[in-house]
Formats: sequence, structure tokens, C-alpha cells
Amino acid sequence: MAGVVIVGAGQAGVQAAESLRRGGYAGAVTLIGEEPVAPYQRPPLSKAYLAGTMDLDRVILKPEATLAEDAIAFVPATRITAIDRAARTVTAEDGRSWAYEHLILATGSRVRRLPVEGAQLAGVHYLRTTTDVDGLRAELVAGARLAVIGGGYIGLEVAAVARKAGLAVTVIEAAERVLARVTTPEISAFYQDLHRAEGVTILTGTGVTALEAGADPARVGAVRLADGSTVPADLVLVGIGIIPNAELAAQAGLATTNGIDTDTNACTSDPAIFAIGDCASRPLAHYGDRRGRLESVHNALEQAKLAAAAILGTPPPPLEAPWFWSDQYDVKLQIAGLSTGAARTVLRGDPATRRFAAFHLAPGNRLLAVDAVNSAPEFIVGRQLIARQQVVAPEKLADMSISMKAIAADPA
Ligand SMILES: Cc1cc2nc3c(=O)[nH]c(=O)nc-3n(C[C@H](O)[C@H](O)[C@H](O)COP(=O)(O)OP(=O)(O)OC[C@H]3O[C@@H](n4cnc5c(N)ncnc54)[C@H](O)[C@@H]3O)c2cc1C
Repeated sequence: MAGVVIVGAGQAGVQAAESLRRGGYAGAVTLIGEEPVAPYQRPPLSKAYLAGTMDLDRVILKPEATLAEDAIAFVPATRITAIDRAARTVTAEDGRSWAYEHLILATGSRVRRLPVEGAQLAGVHYLRTTTDVDGLRAELVAGARLAVIGGGYIGLEVAAVARKAGLAVTVIEAAERVLARVTTPEISAFYQDLHRAEGVTILTGTGVTALEAGADPARVGAVRLADGSTVPADLVLVGIGIIPNAELAAQAGLATTNGIDTDTNACTSDPAIFAIGDCASRPLAHYGDRRGRLESVHNALEQAKLAAAAILGTPPPPLEAPWFWSDQYDVKLQIAGLSTGAARTVLRGDPATRRFAAFHLAPGNRLLAVDAVNSAPEFIVGRQLIARQQVVAPEKLADMSISMKAIAADPA
């Protein structure tokens, strides 16, 4: 029996395989991944694993033995290069092929490369895989000068780890504020203040035009900025976003826009093929007719469960509000929902205490998103209210004397 073939053995692919088995799927499940290692989780790569406080065993999602126990055939170090939808087969670079009844594309994303002269110099790093971390960590030496290009979550998390390791760190962000793509000015301001208080130099509204070699002509020595000045750097970390791995799907004629288009159940334009995780563009359940890609563990897990349920013919799991987290220094940020389109932001607590939440409300005060800094109750209740598409009284949210439990019970 052809069974289910899953292409991509990351967070989404592994969850899909597990959910199929847990749901009683009796056919063959084949999990094919390009990387040579057992499936692993990425969030620690820019946090504890980079810092050296978490070892590889704890980063691994499923050891090969556990996959085998669950009758999941794991095929590492294998890149799938073609899908034949008529024959229902996938073919690898080395010519091997697998037949499928259902195919799940869980191909994730890849880093966006810095498109400037000098980007190929030694000492220029990206962060997506364990191999990337191993190369970067080896150069995180106290006293070295690190330039981080891109003030997104990954850049800022690396900046925090590097500061703690005693490096001199400069973050260079092209937009007017860090985290501009993902959050509101209040949260950006908090993170800029946080990093500056920890000794990081943050440059915003600053483009990069080239990377220049230092004394060693093969190795980076400075970052040239758009205003002509330079930032000296012994190493560079580039974190300027990711590109979905959607080419395999597009070549097979599946609908793709920014990622592989899916319906609510993670099904692509071919009913036998699903797409899940970073590579998929999905309807955003709590946000009207919006669609988009979500780059998070929660999204990978949720879509994996949706695809498995569709294949099993069981009811889909309830859709939750999207969520994400980031750890920097002693600050845990938990984000629920999507703040795009917010008409106003209500602060609860004082950012100076490093414990507060920013609630983002649509016109009419429906809760769209919450950014909770060291504030678990605000995050937990916020997620529930977002999923309920709840209208919330802003004055209640701003009033710390009203507990989040009380707000959950009587929000408006
Ligand atoms: C450094 C870092 C920190 C992060 N921190 C957080 C965080 O704090 N919180 C959070 O929620 N999210 C975080 N994320 C995002 C989260 O890890 C991703 O959203 C998640 O890993 C997506 O899972 P995925 O399975 O879609 O993709 P991946 O985990 O990227 O897995 C895709 C796999 O498919 C393989 N593949 C691709 N093409 C092929 C092919 N043709 N044939 C075979 N295999 C193929 C790839 O090699 C890869 O192994 C972080 C990501 C990174 C990189």
C-alpha cells in the first residue's frame, strides 16, 4: 500500500507522522528529509542551544529509534526534486522514488541571503540549521565584535546570547524600528531599550551596502552602511527573513502565492496533497478572509494535525489563535494573534518593570493580538479571547487591579 509520504522532516513533518499514527493510520508512513540528522526543533537554535546550555539530544524532536517504534520510515539526507501527480510518486535527487496515496509537503523555508558584495566572506553567518549554529557558536568569543544585520526575532535573540557571552554587539536594522514587520511601535521601543540597557548598539533606518574584508582578505572585517560609514565586525549574523520552499509544489503545478496555497484543512489545489508549516499559505481563521504564512511552531503543529485529520477522515481539531514566543535575556515574550490592522494598543503594566502586556484591538475593540512580556496570565487569557473573537473593554485591560481571570469572565 502506498500510504502517506511526507517531504520535509522538521517540526511539521514529524508531527504529521505522529498524528497519523496516534489517530490509528494503518498504512505506510514515510518521512523524507534533506538534512542528515534526526528531526529537530529550531527555536533553541537561537537561544539555549546557541548559548551552549542545551545539548543536541534535547534539540532532537524524535530519535530515529522512536520513529521506527512508531513504524515511521525515516529517510534522512534525501532531497525530493520532483512530484509526479498523475503517477502519485515523488523522486529524489539520487533517482529513488516513492509512491503515495497522500502526500504531505512540509518543506519549511530557507534563509534570505544578503544581496550585497562581500556576503560570501568567511565570518558571515546565517541561522537555520544545527550546522549553522555549530559554525556561529565557535566564533562567539568574548571580546569579539558581532554585527547583526536584521532586527527581527532571530537577530535579537542572537544579540542577547552574544552579549551574555561577552561580545560587543551592533544590530543594524533597515526599518525605522526593530521587529517592525511583526509588532507595534510600543513593543519595538521596549526591545530597543532592553538591548541598549544590556549594552547592545542598535542602529535603525540603516541599510547595508557591502561587507568588507579585514586584515585577512578572505574574512569579513566591517559592514559598510548606506551613509558610507562602517561598523567594524569580526563576525556577522544575517537575519533578514526566510523564503518558503514552495518550488517543488509550483513545479508540480500546485497553486502557490507566497508559499503553497492551502484550504482550512491544509489541503492544496490537489486533493491528494497537503502542505503544512512554514511552506504553506493558509486561511487565517480568526482574521476574516485574510490568508498568509505563519512562521511558528504552533502553526506547524496545528497544520500537521489538520492534514492528519483530513487523511484519517476524523473531525479537524479546533483552530486556535496563532502564537509564538521569544526569549531574550531574562525576558520571555509570548505573542498571541496577529496585530496587523489594529486601531489601538492598550498597555497593561509598566514596560520599565519588564513585566507588562500590550493588547492590540481592532476598530470596535475586538481583540486581535497580545504581546505579553513576562506575563503568562495575559498571554493565556488573551489567546482565549482572540479565539472567541471577543470585544474587550480597553479600560479593563489597562486596569491591573482587575485580574485577567475576571476579564475572561466579563470582558466587555
Ligand atoms: C533560529 C530559529 C528560531 C526560532 N524560534 C522560534 C520560536 O521561538 N518560536 C516559534 O514558534 N518558532 C520559532 N521558529 C520558527 C519555527 O522553528 C518554524 O516555524 C518551524 O520550524 C517550521 O516547521 P516546518 O516543519 O514547517 O519547517 P522546518 O522545521 O524548517 O522543516 C522543514 C524541513 O524540510 C526539509 N526539506 C525542504 N525541502 C526538502 C525537499 N525537497 N526534500 C526533502 N526535505 C526537504 C528541510 O531541510 C527541513 O529540514 C524559529 C526558527 C528558527 C530558524
